[in-house]
Amino acid sequence: MTGTTDTTAGSRGGAVLVLNSGSSSLKYQLLYPDTGEVVVSGIIERIGETDVPDHGTALRRVFDEFASAGIDLSSIAAVGHRVVHGGRTFHEPTLIDDDVLAEIRRLSSLAPLHNPANVAGIEVARELLPGVDQVAVFDTAFFFHLPDAAATYAIDSAVAEQHALRRYGFHGTSHRYVSERVAEFLGRPYSEVNQIVLHLGNGASASAIRGGRAIDTSMGLTPLEGLVMGTRSGDIDPGLVLHLNRALGMGVDEIDDLLNRRSGLRGLCGENDFRSVRGLIDAGDAAARLAYDVYVHRLRRYIGAYLVELGRVDAITFTAGVGENDPGIRADALAGLERFGIAVDPERNAGRAAVPTRISPDGAEVAVLAVPTNEELAIARDTIALSGG
Ligand code: ADP
Repeated sequence: MTGTTDTTAGSRGGAVLVLNSGSSSLKYQLLYPDTGEVVVSGIIERIGETDVPDHGTALRRVFDEFASAGIDLSSIAAVGHRVVHGGRTFHEPTLIDDDVLAEIRRLSSLAPLHNPANVAGIEVARELLPGVDQVAVFDTAFFFHLPDAAATYAIDSAVAEQHALRRYGFHGTSHRYVSERVAEFLGRPYSEVNQIVLHLGNGASASAIRGGRAIDTSMGLTPLEGLVMGTRSGDIDPGLVLHLNRALGMGVDEIDDLLNRRSGLRGLCGENDFRSVRGLIDAGDAAARLAYDVYVHRLRRYIGAYLVELGRVDAITFTAGVGENDPGIRADALAGLERFGIAVDPERNAGRAAVPTRISPDGAEVAVLAVPTNEELAIARDTIALSGG
């Protein structure tokens, strides 16, 4: 377990515990939703492989740590759970009761690795914190109202209908949080800003948002579609999957592993961490250069598509680990677009963006920004708004 604790903040009331349960990990953060002040945060990894057999044990560990840091569990006003898939059911944060939990479990067919872990986290938190409100915040919710034209796969509609096969989108909490910060930064009503948000972390996704409503996003039925990511391929010809099976005899689990864990930057150059890719490029590594070029090419393709879909764009924003910290990707993604009112000022773009930062020149038609995302804070605020805590 790795964690950081600020014990000075532990005695006040009204903190929200945010839990993000992955298939083999539990990320936690205890924070104050009003100020964003973090009391304690950390991650327990390799659940199931180590002396932490399940999420229940993991959360008990977390609470033990709270106790030894002098944090009273009664200071937890509510628990916010990041839930990956809300399907066609959940379009907003939802107070969890037995029915909601059952529905999240039912949606596991759409997210077989993620929703069961989320369910486990919710069950344990309800057991260990009885009487404390639990809220589910869905990664798909922000994209619930995508226009049908953007959400529909052009496949047999009866099959799609029967099995709920459509584009759902993910990273929604981040896209919503960041796009709201953008409107705030620009001093304009959220409902009037047209924007493109580029969430470039280990996973990566782009969204087009018209007047506060997402009209397109790059992830689809699963988080595999769209941009080139750390270890995921993003868009490929679906015929490639058939070919891997028919011509190479690869089974579905093998193909899953190939596309989700052995592709993207790692597949192309052996590294998925962007800093390592940069290091390799600087050392003259041709595979890393190609990996970067493919990454940028895909990113620009989506930017181009969303410029056309939106027609008028007020802001383009970079966020998450790569987007906030790598000036090179920001410059390359938008190079040569001056005729569209889009430019990046080299001096403003020079560093990491620890706070919302304008990187376009004064007077540019389109504001180009780097804005730190904070999914935990967004979840904590949604949680406290719904809970009685
Ligand atoms: P996730 O939440 O999807 O795991 P993050 O948003 O934390 O991902 O982003 C992780 C990515 O950000 C990694 O590829 C990492 O290399 C990259 N990153 C972090 N810091 C920097 C930096 N200073 N320069 C370039 N890339 C960075």
